[in-house]
Amino acid sequence: MHSFALSRADDAAKAIAAHAQDPQLAFIAGGTDLIGLMKDRAALPERLLDINGLPDMARIEALPDGGLRIGALARMSDVAADAGVRGRFPVIAEALLFAASGQLRNMASMGGNIMQRTRCAYFRDEDDLPCNKRRPGSGCSALHGLNRNHAIFGWSDACVATNPSDVAVAFAAMDANVIVRGRTGGRSIPFTNFHRLPGSTPEHDHVLDRGDLIVAIEVPARVEGRASHYLKVRDRESYEFALVSAAAAVATDGRRIGSARLAMGGVAHKPWRLFAAETALRRVSLDDSDALKGAIATSFADARPLAHNAFKVELAERVALRALQTAGARA
Ligand SMILES: Cc1cc2nc3c(=O)[nH]c(=O)nc-3n(C[C@H](O)[C@H](O)[C@H](O)COP(=O)(O)OP(=O)(O)OC[C@H]3O[C@@H](n4cnc5c(N)ncnc54)[C@H](O)[C@@H]3O)c2cc1C
Ligand code: SF4
Repeated sequence: MHSFALSRADDAAKAIAAHAQDPQLAFIAGGTDLIGLMKDRAALPERLLDINGLPDMARIEALPDGGLRIGALARMSDVAADAGVRGRFPVIAEALLFAASGQLRNMASMGGNIMQRTRCAYFRDEDDLPCNKRRPGSGCSALHGLNRNHAIFGWSDACVATNPSDVAVAFAAMDANVIVRGRTGGRSIPFTNFHRLPGSTPEHDHVLDRGDLIVAIEVPARVEGRASHYLKVRDRESYEFALVSAAAAVATDGRRIGSARLAMGGVAHKPWRLFAAETALRRVSLDDSDALKGAIATSFADARPLAHNAFKVELAERVALRALQTAGARA
């Protein structure tokens, strides 16, 4: 195990300044991803700054307007069990409950969850196989290697990895915002802009800079929030990352869809919003499966499967349909 120094932060401004000045320093919250990356030598920070003592960052608040504010240090299990979250946005609670294990969810923070790195086996592997995310410029072993679990949308020749977070898919569907405090003050980043596509710099997963601390995730009030659902398909029924997942939410007018929100996990380097399908779904009856399928298919015209994951295209379309129908049954 790589050796490191550990200190504890009790003041956010000092923590931000320390992170901004020291490229060898990493924040640590639950440690459930970072310590694994260090064991795999995929991250080798010399200094860890434990942020668990920072004040006011673990609260889960149901806002008076119907939205939510979830502190970055709130634990996954607490958020999943929160009555406000379950009532207003079941899709968020379900995405959390389908993730990891009970023990991990007790430890893992919400900020750490949306920052977790890809589970691409070449990236996590200690062997020196080419991986542009781990060693920029070395190549991508998955592009022509084993790529069953990899992306079908938005990949580049430099990286075909997927984002592993479940709850990020629900946040993307709900147009949540990541609330960040940095060197020059605070800012709010729309969730769909938070994670990046790989392009030619796949070593960058997100848009944060040095010195940026995630303080909360805010979910605005959404008319579709209550009739929402998260569906995850994986190789085994528990304790496994998504092969494909979907977050769906609808508002209805009788049995017709007034507005729909759809995002997918396991298909791209970031949660993948099905914007074309959302438009095509307006006024479609929830009882007309063929019309629902046709509307969802509009978002798959630009799918680009790799050698081993063509099955994901049909699987993802089916998962989106089932998630939408289940959300619709709650409307
Ligand atoms: C066996 C296993 C199975 C899993 N299965 C799933 C699954 O099915 N679905 C799923 O979604 N996840 C899964 N996970 C991932 C798990 O949810 C994450 O490891 C966890 O959410 C990370 O949170 P943490 O607090 O432990 O983060 P840490 O490990 O402490 O940190 C992770 C990263 O986030 C950064 N960070 C943490 N907090 C902040 C902050 N406030 N501001 C800025 N940066 C910050 C750290 O510097 C680090 O880079 C699994 C993990 C394991 C080990
Ligand atoms: S897909 Fe990305 S993470 Fe995986 S080997 Fe290629 S560059 Fe590395």
